[in-house]
Amino acid sequence: MQAIRSRDTGPEAAVRRLLHGQGFRYRVNYRPQQAPRRTIDIAFTGIRVAVFIDGCFWHGCPKHYRPPTRNESYWTPKIERNRLRDLETTTTLSGQGWTVLRFWTHLDPAAIAAVVASEVRLRSASAR
Ligand SMILES: [Zn+2]
Repeated sequence: MQAIRSRDTGPEAAVRRLLHGQGFRYRVNYRPQQAPRRTIDIAFTGIRVAVFIDGCFWHGCPKHYRPPTRNESYWTPKIERNRLRDLETTTTLSGQGWTVLRFWTHLDPAAIAAVVASEVRLRSASAR
């Protein structure tokens, strides 16, 4: 539910709008050939920049994740698996030449967009 909602509203959409407004073009929820079971939130495929906007709860943000008091024994291992999966995705994509940028949803979307924009400009310049 959270995953579906966050695609249209929330921090990820805000970052996308900011980037789009600055003229950047990208793929959303992109499945890279090198890791077809993983989805990149915002992908610049030509220069291989992968942007992930990770929800504080689902991805276990060290600042904001608190295990729910109900079903704690269910949630803690589940969130731990998500974290491992994130790490594995980063490792896999990095090994395939992707630059992986991960941000927590608690960060300011404008700050995230600025970091992404400068990385994309840098990569585009060196690709030429
Ligand atoms: Zn957080």
